[in-house]
Parts: sequence; structure tokens; C-alpha cells
Amino acid sequence: MRRRILQGIGGALAGLLILLCLGFASPRQRQAPENPIAQAPVHSITPALAGASRETQPQPEQTEPEETQPEQTEPEETKPEETQPEPEQSKSPTLELPKPTQPDPTVPTAGAQTQAPGEEPGGQEPDHQQPNGQQPGDQQPDDQEPGGDPDHQEPPPTAPEDSDPVIDTDLAELAKDPLLRSELEDDILPFYARLKGGSSELYLRVHLRNSANGSGVYLTGSDGNYQTALALGRNIFTIFIKNGSQTVSSAVFAIDYQEKKADEQNPVVGEHPPTIVTNLDGLTEPIKTSRFSLRVTAKDGQGNPLYRSNVRVQMDGKTIYQPTGGTTLEYTLAFPIPTSEEDANHTVTVLAWTDEGSSRLATYQVKYQFVDDGQVNGHVRVILDVTTLGLGWIFEEAMDIRQGQPVAHAVLEALENQGFTAEYTGTADLNFYLRRICGGDIAAGAEIPQNLWEKIQADGITITGQQDRDSLGEQDYTKGSGWLYSINGVYYPGVSLSSYMPSDGDTIYLRFTLAYGKDVGSSSGYGALSSYCGSWINETYLEDHSYDGGAVLEQATCTEPEVFGYTCTVPGCGHQKTELRGEALGHDEVQTAQVEATSTAEGYVEFTCSRCGSVRREVLPMLPPDPSVPTEPDPTDPQPPEPDAGG
Ligand SMILES: [Zn+2]
Ligand SMILES: [Zn+2]
Repeated sequence: MRRRILQGIGGALAGLLILLCLGFASPRQRQAPENPIAQAPVHSITPALAGASRETQPQPEQTEPEETQPEQTEPEETKPEETQPEPEQSKSPTLELPKPTQPDPTVPTAGAQTQAPGEEPGGQEPDHQQPNGQQPGDQQPDDQEPGGDPDHQEPPPTAPEDSDPVIDTDLAELAKDPLLRSELEDDILPFYARLKGGSSELYLRVHLRNSANGSGVYLTGSDGNYQTALALGRNIFTIFIKNGSQTVSSAVFAIDYQEKKADEQNPVVGEHPPTIVTNLDGLTEPIKTSRFSLRVTAKDGQGNPLYRSNVRVQMDGKTIYQPTGGTTLEYTLAFPIPTSEEDANHTVTVLAWTDEGSSRLATYQVKYQFVDDGQVNGHVRVILDVTTLGLGWIFEEAMDIRQGQPVAHAVLEALENQGFTAEYTGTADLNFYLRRICGGDIAAGAEIPQNLWEKIQADGITITGQQDRDSLGEQDYTKGSGWLYSINGVYYPGVSLSSYMPSDGDTIYLRFTLAYGKDVGSSSGYGALSSYCGSWINETYLEDHSYDGGAVLEQATCTEPEVFGYTCTVPGCGHQKTELRGEALGHDEVQTAQVEATSTAEGYVEFTCSRCGSVRREVLPMLPPDPSVPTEPDPTDPQPPEPDAGG
């Protein structure tokens, strides 16, 4: 149960104490601020912050003048019915007073009672704050119906505190946990919000903002009962206590409205469910690594990565926290020593969800085969890859791995087997960092590929000029150089070699980067280029641009089809790939001239393309000679033609 106490009021409304309970997933401690200017007009508005995470407590503006409250959500034009203006002013300095014991909203208060700043109680235990003075364990069934049953609105009778206006609402309960779409009918949330206690001039206004209503709307209720449609995502209710045109206090309740999440019965939910890829996919052999590194890559329906806030991994129903990594999350599955055959079987679930409400549950049945510490529990390949210097793979070595040993052990053994020595800090079991590999003429013949060299220069990485044919390590050639390792391709774990527990069959690549990893398929925030649009790994260059959605680069013409092109969105790249689409349009010809043929000359019809102006002539053949016109004999013709006998 997480509760929060909000606000009290003094000054002109001295003695009115408003205690509100806000439900948030992870409340932070609120300290009651000093009342800075006892008589100054202040606000007690609680701005509803768009996009604020559930961990972020809305911060009531205590003393800000109105014009500094851009988040204020009382647009005049959206007010229904009411005609009162809504100046965000109050003569009352506002106190924010966490208080363990709350006034009873059901008991009308008789006289003003001043709550002084010094009386801030219970400030360190917001989690234990209960509305209406309840203890954490107490149940308030009337307030805990997810649907907010309007028939049950009587707050439990608890200790009264005179004259304190209290917002009595079930929104606090409703906001505690995400509300699932399956719990409401037609997305309609019934709830109540009433003012208890306080002077008779006070009244409530309820404002709702969500993704469907822009800057929000005021809700109209009847006897404090409201009904409103929720939108998926955050629905921010702001309840204002008004005195005439003045807002004397407010409280914010954020309800996270979500699609039902996937479960074992319905593993796929929503229109655009995420995808989940893990290194348990296709695994049929028992796992022999007692601390197995589970890699999870989850993406939304559009292929954008989902991060740890949208992914939950459980083993045997217990959530595994604190993954490492980024777009690929790394979870450690710690298998207990099995005491029976059944004990060795475990269920791993990966739940991923999108903010728009789709979700997917992937379930894996895995078996852990116990191997004692120090015993061989598999084999890996260790590959030394220096493609960035044109050297390709320098060696490939098969190594045993042993239970309880991080992969740094296998890497060091492989280097030694191949006649190299490693300079490193830390140990193979803790804080291992590989600085340099020496011996064996490791860098003899090194030559940086020209296309990589151009990227490094465009990136602005400092050239060090440091190099040695018999050793290779950090800051050779560039400031961004050094050794990285990846697992099974171009996956670069977020932990050191002394923290990564290899699994049977892993391939470990030790790669030399010249560019903070950007040249070997990793990523980095350093340098001017966000990406090198390719990787120099495994003895080759793999071009890999990030293209945009594409655009027409050249319109189709009479003779050429449309040229459609995709442009790399990486700043400084601009690489394009193009394709021809459709057919050439063909000319749009109109007849523009005609010359009739004669018996002595060909004629023609001329066509001109209205689009491109190209001209084409169609020849009209010469007419047969006209018999009425004698043919002039050609004096040069030695044999004049026979006169026409016909007639
Ligand atoms: Zn590119
Ligand atoms: Zn044309």
C-alpha cells in the first residue's frame, strides 16, 4: 500500500487542512516545505505532468506565480457548464503536510484549526500513509473496486478533525495499480469525488487529461458521482478545491490504463504484439551453467527496442531484477542445486509489453544439469579477430569451460595456448580488463582498411600514432582503440569478461576496435558519428546502413521509370540505395503537323510529346506517279523507260 499525503492550507483559509492520499507505484518522500511568505498569494495547484513516469510524484507548485505554471491544466474553453472564471490564485499559503493520521472526511468540521508548518508529521513514511487513517493492512473494500462502484461511497468512520476540507474519492485507490481494459466496460470508469468538511463555499472541480482529449476536459458529475471514458496510457485526474473563482488546493491522481497483459492462457495480446528473442530459443540441451546469462531482445510491433521498463523476466514465478545491457537485456538465471529430478526443471517466462497495450509472453521450460564447481561444463570457441587492421582472425581455439568460472579464464588460457601474453587489470574473477595482447608479432602487417580510415577521420577520433608490431592494445593507432569481446556474433555484453558466465557452445570473439566499438558492431556515444554504417569483423566488411522510409528521388519520365531511394539516416553518411519502380510513362503525343505526300516527295505526320517535347514523324509514302503528268525522261538515263502502254 503506497500512500501520499498532500496538502494543507493556511492564511486566509487558515486552519483548513487538506489531506489527500495519492497512490503511486513508488512514492518518493515528500517534505513539507516551509511557508516562505506567509501572506503572499500562492498556488496550491498540482500540475499534472504529461509523460511523467509513475515513479515521479507530481510536484505541487507551492509558491509559483501563475505565469510560471505552464503545466496548468485548466483551459477555460474546456469548462462545461460552469461560468465561474478560473484564476489560479489563492490567498492561502499552502502547506504540504504528510500526516500519519488523517481527519475523518465524514465528520463535518466545526471550527478552523490551524495547521502550522512545524507540525509536519510522519514525513518519512509515505508508504504507510493510508487514506482515512487506515493502517496499511486494513482493507477498504468500498474503495478498492477497480471499477469504482458508485454505490459504495461511504468512507469508513474514523477520527474526525474539525473544519478540514477533504477530497473524498476512490481515485486514490484506483491509481495504485494499473487498471486493465478487461476490468471496465466500454472503457468507462465510474468513480466518485466529493468534498467533505470545510466551509460551505468550497466546491470541487474534476479535470481529466489523457491521450484522447488533448489538454483535458472538466468532468460533470452528479452528487459527486462521475463517469468518464479512459484512454490507454496515463489518465491524469486533477481535482481542484475551489472557493468562488479561486483554486485553494488540488490533487492529482494518475491512472495507468492498460490492455490486459499476456499470460499463459493468452500469450499474445493486442494489435501489435512485441517480439521476443532469447538465447533459450531452440535450446534443447540441459543447461550446465549454474549462473546462466539469459539474453532477451524484445521489440515492439514496429521493431523498436523495448527496454527494461517494458520487460519482465521470471523464473519459477520469481521476477529477476536488475538486468544489464541495453537493447539486449542480460538476466542471470541462478539455478539452485537440484535435489531431485523434478527440481532440475524450471520455467522461465519473458513478458514484454508496449505502451500502447500490446504484450507477449514467451515461456521456456529449461532443465539444469548439475555440474560441480570447477568441473568442465562445456566448451567454447575463442577467436581473436583483428579485421579492423586488415589482419582477420589471428587464431581460433576451442576451450573447456568450468562451472563457476567466468569466461575470462577461457580467454586467458586460449591466449596462452597460442603463445600470447595478456596485460590486464583485475583478475579473471573480478573487474577484469584486457589492456593489451603481446607477442607473436600480433600486429605485423597491420593496415587499416581505407573505408574504415575515412570513417575514423570523419568521426574526429584523435590519432595517437602509437603502434607496435609485437603488441596490440588500448590507444594504439587512435584514442578509441582497445579490446572488446562479443558473444556469438556481434553481441557485446554489458559486463566484463570476469562477470560473464559462458554457456556450452558459446563463441567468444576478442575484437580490436579503433573506434570505441563502432567499427566492430558495438555502439558508443563518443565521436561525431553515431554509427559507422558497417562492421569490420570476421575478415570482411559488412555494410549496414540505417535507411529511412524511402522517397521518390526522380519522377518517372516518358522514357525512364521512377527512381525510388532510401537514404541512410546516420548523420554524416547520406548513403543511398535506389530502385526503379513501375514503368516509363511513354510519350503523350499530339499531332502537330502534317505534310501530304506527292508523287514526287514523301510526306509526313508530325507528333510532339506534350510532356517532354520530343518530336516524331511518321512518313507518308510517295504517291504513285500521276499519268496526266508526263514523265520527264532523265537525260542521263541511257535507257528511257518504256512508255506506259496501259490506259
Ligand atoms: Zn549509413
Ligand atoms: Zn515525352
